[in-house]
Amino acid sequence: MKRVTRREAIQGAATMAALPLLGMPSQSPAQSAALPAEVDVAVVGAGLAGLAAARLLQERGRSVAVVEARNRVGGRAYTDTARLGQPVDLGAAFLKSADVNPLAGEMRRREVALQSDDGDYWLFDRDRDGRLRDAATEDYDLLGLLYDRIDDALLDAKTLRADVTLASRTKLDVNGAARWADLARAMAGPLHIGIDYPQVSALDAPRLSGTGNDAWLPGGFGAWVTDYAAGLPVWLGKPVVRIDWANNGVTLATAEGQVRAEACIVTVPLGVLAAQDGILFQPALPAAQREALSRMSMGLINRIALLYEPGSFNAPANTQVLANGGGSRTFSFRLNVHNTPLVVATVGGEQARALETQGEAAMVAAARAQLKLIFGEAVDGRFLRGVASSWGQDPFSRGAVAAARPGFAVARRNAGRPLTSAAGRSRVLFAGEAFASADWAGFATGAWLSGRLAATEALRVLG
Ligand SMILES: Cc1cc2nc3c(=O)[nH]c(=O)nc-3n(C[C@H](O)[C@H](O)[C@H](O)COP(=O)(O)OP(=O)(O)OC[C@H]3O[C@@H](n4cnc5c(N)ncnc54)[C@H](O)[C@@H]3O)c2cc1C
Repeated sequence: MKRVTRREAIQGAATMAALPLLGMPSQSPAQSAALPAEVDVAVVGAGLAGLAAARLLQERGRSVAVVEARNRVGGRAYTDTARLGQPVDLGAAFLKSADVNPLAGEMRRREVALQSDDGDYWLFDRDRDGRLRDAATEDYDLLGLLYDRIDDALLDAKTLRADVTLASRTKLDVNGAARWADLARAMAGPLHIGIDYPQVSALDAPRLSGTGNDAWLPGGFGAWVTDYAAGLPVWLGKPVVRIDWANNGVTLATAEGQVRAEACIVTVPLGVLAAQDGILFQPALPAAQREALSRMSMGLINRIALLYEPGSFNAPANTQVLANGGGSRTFSFRLNVHNTPLVVATVGGEQARALETQGEAAMVAAARAQLKLIFGEAVDGRFLRGVASSWGQDPFSRGAVAAARPGFAVARRNAGRPLTSAAGRSRVLFAGEAFASADWAGFATGAWLSGRLAATEALRVLG
């Protein structure tokens, strides 16, 4: 097996779990208290975007209420600490390009020790009989060449504003690398943004490579977000069903009361915003915004965490494993996640959707079967139990990350335009990963930045 540095490995499918939380203060947000009658700014959703907005507003002395549908904060950043006896991130897991990542800066200011992601990377190939074996050194290079080609095509499309499919701008059957093309496509599509390669937009999709210096959080990404929420005025278990913005101010309605605010920041995932049975806006969202929402979709990525007996995999912590021959049904694995006997698989796109409808047991079985193919029966015999996320079926996420369809990249900007009431002041602002700046769209960092931006705009509106 060949060792390559993380810089050479693809970043998008990196998967982490975490060490137990050590000495981090935590405070439960309000669960059952009644909503306040009136605040300066009401925030819908307690994911990173909503929490970032609330924190900034609170720091500037404004009254805020964050109204959250679930009985927990964090949204798509969620660390399961109970089911496998070890914390495991079932949503956001790592910080991309931590050396230039503004959210990493915020974490460091809060004295969170980030750990760099420099695990091994193992590639497996299929022989003529369909058996998996270690890939040859040149195969790593061939796959790397294809990643570079895809990244170049993404960069070109952004430079030329070519709003077409990524597939139409990439030629991957080159230099003997064609055998690895399906794996490269899987890494750039379903495992990167949750969308199968033929539907990926060259203009909208984020590039594959960052600086190569990814990092993860001791304790788990989701656990950190829970900690970040401490001290913020969050009301849990209260889905917002209606937003009235016609008159002076904005009123959020839930089944258990309402709150009126001078301005409102909506941070629900794009899938919730676009859903017919989602939040009712009164007046309705403008036609141009509804049109833009219909030009976007939620890609699907799921994590499947498998617990084995200690010592089952003779691999360094966080070793990434990829196998050729899966086509769009490829899994990306991390072995011995964070030095625990956990394996975390990532699946995306239509494969993730099909598996999700079959239920958690089927997802766990599928990931386990793939590992058995690679590592054999003996390892499989040491499997203990597994858990899986189902972000697509979750009514409060309806997918993993937002993407514009090819030809409609502009929709991302139009789908999140602020609503201006008849009185002429912007009162409803939108934030979240879907509406983040191009550099960080889709990532937790984008959500955090966009929440802060919306809060800044709300402060301006409030005067
Ligand atoms: C499987 C997976 C892996 C990922 N991996 C990474 C990664 O490694 N690194 C990374 O940077 N990013 C990753 N991401 C993306 C990252 O998780 C998101 O970009 C980020 O968490 C989104 O934050 P947000 O605040 O925009 O949305 P969310 O976190 O979804 O927050 C929105 C909130 O709104 C709430 N809500 C929904 N409907 C209502 C309603 N009607 N009323 C009130 N509240 C409502 C939701 O419950 C939720 O809490 C991953 C995502 C997934 C799903």
